[in-house]
Amino acid sequence: MRTAERLTNIPPYLFMELRKKINKAKADGVDVISLAIGDPVEATPDSIIDELCATARDSMNHRYPTDEEKGMLAFRKEIACWYQERYGVSLNPENEILGLIGSKEGCHHFILARVNTGDTVLMTDPGYPAYRASILMGGGDPYNVPILPQNNYLPVFEDIPADVAKKATAMFLNYPNNPTGACATLEFLNKLVDFARNYDIAICYDNPYSEIVFAGQERVSFLMAQGAKDVGIELNSLSKPFNMCGWRLGMACGNPELIAAISKVKENTDSGIFNPIQFAGIKALQKEAPFIEKMLALYGKRRELVLQTLKKIGIDFNPPRGTFYLWVPVPKGMTSLDFTNRLFDKTSVVVASGVAYGKYGEGFVRISLTVSDKRLEEAMKRIEKEFTQ
Ligand SMILES: *Cc1c(COP(=O)(O)O)cnc(C)c1O
Repeated sequence: MRTAERLTNIPPYLFMELRKKINKAKADGVDVISLAIGDPVEATPDSIIDELCATARDSMNHRYPTDEEKGMLAFRKEIACWYQERYGVSLNPENEILGLIGSKEGCHHFILARVNTGDTVLMTDPGYPAYRASILMGGGDPYNVPILPQNNYLPVFEDIPADVAKKATAMFLNYPNNPTGACATLEFLNKLVDFARNYDIAICYDNPYSEIVFAGQERVSFLMAQGAKDVGIELNSLSKPFNMCGWRLGMACGNPELIAAISKVKENTDSGIFNPIQFAGIKALQKEAPFIEKMLALYGKRRELVLQTLKKIGIDFNPPRGTFYLWVPVPKGMTSLDFTNRLFDKTSVVVASGVAYGKYGEGFVRISLTVSDKRLEEAMKRIEKEFTQ
């Protein structure tokens, strides 16, 4: 069967390839430990599950979602409270908030809502691969803005050629950053708003790790920047802070015109989120902030363990303080793929190769802290043994 041309430029989804490799090894009886994917193994908190179960018994909730594509007003109001409390950001639940089936859905529908065929869309390199796929599927032309360690992995706006910026109609950013773990400052976000305003670029600030920050790093939302709502939206998600990756629940907040446009796309695509999942989301936002602290303590300990192990094998670096990933420089004389392959072949530990996130990811691998303590300890033992022999 011939399939659509819009798919031909999209590389196979990174994790699908990895999954195949892992499955093959597992089928051969190998004890594989994957540190490649950011998907917490600990369960979603009970109060959230209980709320889903209780509300799923009400047949009213078996019908099309309330308020359809926008999400329930009660859910949107709870999101407004969350943003006010956690970030000091005021949002109008009527027209500045939209429920999403995860932030990834929001990325895709943002493109459909904003970008015309042939428009340039800026994204970072390294960057989250789904942005590129969404840009291509929406007929846009992706342009990679390098983010480099010497600039704390933040884009330098002066280095983006003016003719590119003039052609661009949208930009994706994500801090705390997947894959590098870098965090943005308010000062940077104010510059971002100025850049967006100067070139009429709509910002899609994808912020699913806004709550995953360590040791004194402050939580930052794009919407805290002066004038952010004039130039863009922030996507957020319950996946990462509440261990709800499989539930598919997130939100878009900010510019009312963009929110309305994305809502129109959703009205004609997915008709919104299952009501009980939205009720469960309300519960998470109301009751489970302490759960985030508990997870941060766990991730913090795991982070230390990985850093200690890497130090023992001669990789000593000072990582940024966001996300549950570590962006790790590979040993001298090796490429990212050399290192990834050696780890897999000799220790059956899987990490994500930096080049999967763009050419500026060369020289790095990404290690995820979302496996159990026991598995992480085992993985670190194997790595230490392999590289200190
Ligand atoms: C995990 C992740 C997402 C996906 O979030 P969902 O809400 O589960 O769709 C989006 N963007 C980035 C950068 C991520 O790492």
